[in-house]
Amino acid sequence: MPKLVMKFGGTSVSDVERIKNAASKVYVEVEKGLDVIVIVSAMAGETNRLVSLVNSVSSLYDAREYDAIVSNGENVTAGLMALTLQNMGVSARSWQGWQVPLMTNSAHGAARILEISTQKINEKFLDGMRVAVVAGFQGLTSEGRLSTLGRGGSDTTAVAFAAAFEAQQCDIYTDVDGIFTADPRITNKAKKLNKISYEEMLELASLGAKVLQTRSVELAMRYNVPLKVLNSFSDNEGTLVCQEENI
Ligand code: ADP
Ligand code: ASP
Ligand code: MG
Repeated sequence: MPKLVMKFGGTSVSDVERIKNAASKVYVEVEKGLDVIVIVSAMAGETNRLVSLVNSVSSLYDAREYDAIVSNGENVTAGLMALTLQNMGVSARSWQGWQVPLMTNSAHGAARILEISTQKINEKFLDGMRVAVVAGFQGLTSEGRLSTLGRGGSDTTAVAFAAAFEAQQCDIYTDVDGIFTADPRITNKAKKLNKISYEEMLELASLGAKVLQTRSVELAMRYNVPLKVLNSFSDNEGTLVCQEENI
C-alpha cells in the first residue's frame, strides 16, 4: 500500500486532547487506504524541561547522558498516540528509535542519521498494522548508545523515514498555516506561500526560520521528498516544498 509520513510537532501533541486531534488527521489518511508512519515530537515544553534538568545537575555534562535524558519526551507521545489510534479502532503501535533501528553517528546532541532499517516496520505493515508511530529526534549509535538529532530534529526524522520507506509525501503538522515570507508570529505582514523550492526553503531555514530543521530540508532536497507544512488546528492547504520546476 502507498505510504505517507505525518509528523506532529510539540504544540500539536501538547495534551491528550491535541493528541486526539492529531490522531483524527491520521485516521482520515488511513481511511483513504494509506499506510501511515507518524513521527511525533515531545509534548510542547517537555524537551526544554528535560534539558534544564540536565543543566541543573551539571553544566559540563557527558553528552551521552544528555541524550539518554532528553530523548525521553518523544517516547511518551509515541505511546500516547498509538493508544489513541487503537481507541479509534486503528491497528497501530509505537516504535522508539533504537527499536527500528534508526542508526546515527556518535555526535551526541547533534547526531546525523546513517541508516534506517525498514525491515521490521514493513513486516508489521504486511501483517496488517496500519500506523507505525515513531518517536522523533532520537536514534542509536553503533556503540549501542541513545543519540539525539539536535533541537527540532523530529523534522529530520520525518523526512528520513519518508525517503527510506519511499513515502508519497512527508506532511509536517505544526502551529501555523504553512511557510510564510517571514515568521508570522513576529510580523503580521508575512505572506503565506502555496509552494516554495527546496533551495529557497533551505535559505529560510538556515537563516533561522525554525519551522523546519535545516537538515530536514537538505535531506528532502537530496532524496526529492515532497514536503508539506500544514496547520494541525485547521484544514488549510499548507505549503508544498518541492523542486523549482514544479512551481
Ligand atoms: P513544531 O513544534 O511544530 O516543530 P516549531 O515551533 O519548531 O513547531 O516551528 C513552528 C514555528 O516556526 C511557528 O510557530 C513560527 O513562529 C516559526 N517560524 C519561523 N519562521 C517561519 C516562517 N517563515 N514561516 C512559518 N513559520 C515560521
Ligand atoms: N522535542 C525536540 C525539540 O524540542 C525535537 C523536536 O521537537 O523536533 O527540539
Ligand atoms: Mg520544530
